[in-house]
Amino acid sequence: GSTIGIIGGGQLGRMLSVAASRLGLKSHIFEPGANPPAGQVADQVTTAAYDDADALKRFAEAVDVITYEFENIPTEALDILGAIRPIHPGREALRVSQDRLTEKTFLNDLGLQTAPFADITDADSLSAALADIGTPAILKTRRFGYDGKGQARIMSPDDAEKALADMAGAPAILEGFVDFSHEVSVIAARAADGSVSCYDPGENVHKDGILDTTTVPARLTPGHRQDAVLLAAKILNALDYVGVMGVELFVTPKGLIVNEIAPRVHNSGHWTQNGCAVDQFEQHIRAVAGWPLGDGQRHSDVVMENLIGHDLDRVPELATQPDTAIHLYGKADVKAGRKMGHVNRIVRK
Ligand code: ATP
Ligand code: MG
Ligand code: MG
Repeated sequence: GSTIGIIGGGQLGRMLSVAASRLGLKSHIFEPGANPPAGQVADQVTTAAYDDADALKRFAEAVDVITYEFENIPTEALDILGAIRPIHPGREALRVSQDRLTEKTFLNDLGLQTAPFADITDADSLSAALADIGTPAILKTRRFGYDGKGQARIMSPDDAEKALADMAGAPAILEGFVDFSHEVSVIAARAADGSVSCYDPGENVHKDGILDTTTVPARLTPGHRQDAVLLAAKILNALDYVGVMGVELFVTPKGLIVNEIAPRVHNSGHWTQNGCAVDQFEQHIRAVAGWPLGDGQRHSDVVMENLIGHDLDRVPELATQPDTAIHLYGKADVKAGRKMGHVNRIVRK
């Protein structure tokens, strides 16, 4: 059978490994950190840094196709890997989504709405951007942000100096604050033959910058539900994308506004594990392995809830609830803000 190489050994890599295994495929994880969650289920693990050219080469030669669970893989590592094996989703998707400035420019060029934004390099460009965009606004690092890290809210121009200091010299982007009613996301898949399949949009609630719950179906008008799926397909086609992508959207009276895209399986798609015949992880493995896509139709209403840090203590109680599917990541040390697992609560239809 063939072997899927997966960059990154966190919970997403772990669930991708499980999906590969169910399809009779092998998985090989590349991860710099020791004892990665995915290492407990993968067939093989390479523990090495992203600047270890020899390890990257050996890893690429040992697999048939390469995919990843996170988008911040250094360009030099991608050059080495990509010279040896195909990488799916492709380089263009990574280039666009690694940087919030490139990402928003790409989305606007596609005709999609984003928050107003400006490139920030210093105090002068920040005050000019604030004069233009207004407050409230959010200053974000262009790269490497996740779970709301690397962001500073600017409620009035007085906050500008502190917000810029929070960026610690990293390139940043200012975004106008979007007055949304709620947040939704579309998990979309595209196969090598160009066929696209989108999961039903989920409604996302964040707590302390971290995804807390995803509920399907999301509250959307029929028009917005269709817009969400069409705009996701447009993004995938424009990137000649192969694999699963998460598209985060703000719902406003003026339509859907794209917040960000993630070129990988997505936390807000975990509900698919218990709401669909073929979940996002299997769908992603199918796509990168050159298989046809499976059936992503939602057969149940689901509420996905993340178990963050000491939420793990609730597992014994959750285990007594027969409508609740439990997914734990096998992480040994519990830390505040760390994703330890999630549950999918099924609402029978
Ligand atoms: P993730 O973990 O999803 O990758 P992230 O660190 O990349 O998160 P964003 O998704 O950009 O951060 O922002 C986190 C949350 O902050 C959003 O889900 C939304 O609730 C809020 N937010 C971000 N940008 C804006 C904006 N321009 N206007 C209003 N709210 C925003
Ligand atoms: Mg993000
Ligand atoms: Mg986000």
